[in-house]
Amino acid sequence: MNYTIATLGSHSALQILKGAKDEGFKTLVITTPKLTSLYDRYSFIDKHIEIENYTDVISIQKTLKKQNVILIPHGSFVAYLGIEGNNAITLPYFGSKSVLDWEADRQKQRDWLEESGLTLPRQYTLGSVIDFPVIVKSYGAAGGSGYFIAKSKADLKNKMKRFGDNPSMIQEYIVGAPLYIQYFYSPLTNKMEILGMDRRYETNADGIGRLPALNQPASLEPSFVVIGNSPLVLRESMLEEAYRMGENVVAASKKMIDSRGLYGPFCLETIITPDMKFSCIEISCRIVAGTNMFIDNSPYASLLYDEPMSMGRRIAREIKQAISLSKLPLILN
Ligand code: AMP
Ligand code: AMP
Repeated sequence: MNYTIATLGSHSALQILKGAKDEGFKTLVITTPKLTSLYDRYSFIDKHIEIENYTDVISIQKTLKKQNVILIPHGSFVAYLGIEGNNAITLPYFGSKSVLDWEADRQKQRDWLEESGLTLPRQYTLGSVIDFPVIVKSYGAAGGSGYFIAKSKADLKNKMKRFGDNPSMIQEYIVGAPLYIQYFYSPLTNKMEILGMDRRYETNADGIGRLPALNQPASLEPSFVVIGNSPLVLRESMLEEAYRMGENVVAASKKMIDSRGLYGPFCLETIITPDMKFSCIEISCRIVAGTNMFIDNSPYASLLYDEPMSMGRRIAREIKQAISLSKLPLILN
């Protein structure tokens, strides 16, 4: 195949490029100087291009075009390039760009998920009566950083001063079991796949429980900075509901966003409450880093494929199938 699969060196680049190599593509990573040595360690990466900042990828597109590159976006594309940067990419790009606005605008995201029939945490404003802990998500926070918890209206007012920020969303804090569901929707076959599930490992939220309340400093505040993930399997009787949620989100995107809608990898971040109901706290509209632990397969991928199928490899497989069916425009932007 004459195509090169490329991505920015961070987030899930190793998995994406390993999967692309396994499917027979040439591979290329675009890295910043700090991470060049990391990507040098892996033989499945054919070529490295070093740039000073991730945003410089826009200015090297001519060079990349000559190498027949298809770009695979991941979490760093949103975090470091923003929507404008993603829209400035003219190279073939795997995935919908129309969903970016709907994902970034918390109200639009909520409208989309509500239209999909999902249960969402209650939403509050600065003036609301607060009789239950709320989580305040500041605009632009990435990977949980900058979030805080407030227990009352006065507590919220006080902390808002300290954080000096304008919240983009105040949500009911859901006490339950977090579960992140990794989907892949193929526009070639119109089939939804669940390829894995994970939970995040967040500091210090996942450390606070190790210290008895008696020993905790009075000023201890939870933070939600993600530093890793661990695998999970869901109680089997709840799996059909997980599929249904993914299918509804895709169906609603075709009605609300555009006719192509959301496709490829995405993730629903849910918290399951004691009544065994999923509450959806967020959607990620591309490959999530929680898929990184399933390079050799997840239990769910094993049920669908008789060979190792990571999310990165699944993306490359979709591109390969689209090439053989002459349907690349259906999956690229
Ligand atoms: P990094 O390349 O580690 O700076 O991460 C790029 C973006 O992806 C940041 O917004 C991170 O918060 C996010 N990210 C990286 N790893 C994870 C993860 N394991 N789970 C969720 N988000 C992540
Ligand atoms: P998010 O940026 O929405 O992915 O949230 C980052 C982290 O904050 C999640 O992984 C959860 O640990 C926590 N979180 C976010 N929203 C809620 C919520 N409504 N209830 C409980 N925890 C939440």
